[in-house]
Parts: sequence; structure tokens; C-alpha cells
Amino acid sequence: MDVHGKLGTAELVGSVNAFRGWPTANHQERYFEKADKLCGELIFREYVTSSTTCPHCPVRCRKHATIDGLEVEAPEYESVWAFGPENRVDDYSTITKANQLCNEYGVDTISAGNVISFYREYLGGFDSSEVVLPLIEKIAMREEEGNLLADGVRKAQERLGVDFGMHVKGLELSAYDPRAFMGMALSYSTNNRGGCHSRAWTVRPEIYGTEFSAEQLAGMVKDRQDSGSVRDSLIMCVFLHATLGYKVYAPALRYVTGLDYTVASLKRAGERIFQLERMMNVGLGVSSKQDVLPDRIVAGMEEPAKYFDSKRRYYQLRNWSEDGAPNEETHTALDLPPLR
Ligand code: SF4
Repeated sequence: MDVHGKLGTAELVGSVNAFRGWPTANHQERYFEKADKLCGELIFREYVTSSTTCPHCPVRCRKHATIDGLEVEAPEYESVWAFGPENRVDDYSTITKANQLCNEYGVDTISAGNVISFYREYLGGFDSSEVVLPLIEKIAMREEEGNLLADGVRKAQERLGVDFGMHVKGLELSAYDPRAFMGMALSYSTNNRGGCHSRAWTVRPEIYGTEFSAEQLAGMVKDRQDSGSVRDSLIMCVFLHATLGYKVYAPALRYVTGLDYTVASLKRAGERIFQLERMMNVGLGVSSKQDVLPDRIVAGMEEPAKYFDSKRRYYQLRNWSEDGAPNEETHTALDLPPLR
């Protein structure tokens, strides 16, 4: 937490890139040779002028940077990546302005950076430093090619008749390459929102832990999805979650509600939430056919068999059918409503 508080989320840049897990140029590569120009230490030294915090939090991980004499919100790690390596940009000033523009327009930075990098590949490359800012304007206003890109990567690739959009279930992938992080490969594949990095984030144990077996990956992702479901229901900060977790949430909820919450009951609540979300997805037509990563990612895996094995074991842990639907046993054990 000390480093996170000092540098903010950009502290991850160096370690993720060194792990060869920083997707670059629409995931055509997974290492950015100019990452040292975007690492947390350099950003802190050269650009950060103040730190702010959410109410009552002592961590103070939110940063402000001064660019061209103007103090603005510093981009988080994901946004540094989306407008940085994913678009082959190493200029922090451009990245910060892109982040600011997205914030002003209410455009998601991960999706915007992804769809621009997709379009860059489609056109055979362009000077992103020059093009990123005008493209964000066009996307936000649905003007010219911005109208094509404004609905995200999945729609854009359908309209253009290509298949190199980096998404799962229509949600663009984030700043952790699933060819390097096998836990994130499974997490992106099975998260209910699609290629989401935040419900179950396995990056730190994968960088600093030992290598995980397929069985361990399945268990780790399931546990993190369930506890992330509790965290998000409590509207807790993702960064504090690893430090707090069930052991703090359970007594806190008891004090606030007077109800008998325990670690075990919260674990069960997390699983129920996740399975209910899955049931809603199944009702909308989601099946195992959508629990898949883009072909480029699977083709570039060093151990594709392990990825498929981890998914098979994950389905078993979740008590899902081969099609990816929660089965009767799950409904009964978790007291869930029947599938329609
Ligand atoms: S609540 Fe979370 S995001 Fe806000 S300052 Fe604390 S650690 Fe950072």
C-alpha cells in the first residue's frame, strides 16, 4: 500500500511490462520497449504535483499532474496503457490529455483506447500521438469514422468484416496480457461483464507467486470473483479489498445492520451474486461459446492446454454444464431461482 499510495496505480507499469504482460499495439505484442517513459516513478518525479484521496482514506492514491501549466487528474494505470502502449504512444502529455478528454465526454478510457488501437491496426498504423485526441472527439460526437468506432470493438469489427478486436462478450480487454497472466485469461473469459479486469484480478500473485496449476487458477479466479461480488455490493474500493476482505466486512456489517453476518455467510452471498449474474447472462443467450478469448490471444499462448484445462476445472467448481449454465445442484445448494 505504501508504494501504491505514493505512486498511484501507475506503480504497476514496470513490473507488468517486465513480466511481458503489457499488451502493445492492439495486443500484437506484449512488451512495450518504451515503458520506462511511462513508469510510475518517472511520472511521479516529472509530472505529479499533488495527491488527493477519497473521503476518510489514508492511502491518497489519486494523483494530479501538471501538463502544459495546467493541473489535471493523472490517468490511472489502465488509461496510461490504453492510450500508451496499446496505441504505441510514449508521450505522457498526450496520454493525460486523452484521459482528460474522455473524462469530460464521459467516455470509458479502456474502451476508447482499445477501439482506437483496433482502428490503427485496421488502417495499417498511423501516428497515434497526432490522431488519438481528434479520434476521441469524433467518437464522442459520433462524427465521421468516430461513428463507426463509438459502439466499441465488437461492433466495429463486425462492420468492417475483420476479427482482431480485443474483447470478450463485447467488453474490451484491459492492461494485463492474458498470454502472460493465465489467471487473467480465465478471469476475462468467465467474468459476467466480459473482458473485465476488476471483478477477479490475479496479477499480483501471478507476478510475485509461484506458477499456478490449472486447478489452482480455477480456484483462485472463482474465489476472487465471489469476494469481488461482495466487495462491489458493499461499494468498497478495489485497492483496499485485499487488505480488508471478509474478515473486516463481516463484523462491520454486523455492527451496522445487527444481522448475523459471518465470513462463511459472505462467501455464500458472493457465490450467489455471481451465479445469479450468470443466470441472467444465460437467459440473454450467453453460453460457453462466449467464454472465449480472441483467436490472437489463444494462438500466442505458451500453454494453451493449461488455459482450456483451467476453464474446464472452473466449470466443474461452479457446477456449470458444458454449455456454461448453472445446473440444478447449484440452484438447490445456493437456493437460487430456477432457470427460465
Ligand atoms: S479509497 Fe481507494 S481509490 Fe480512494 S484513495 Fe483510498 S485506495 Fe485510493
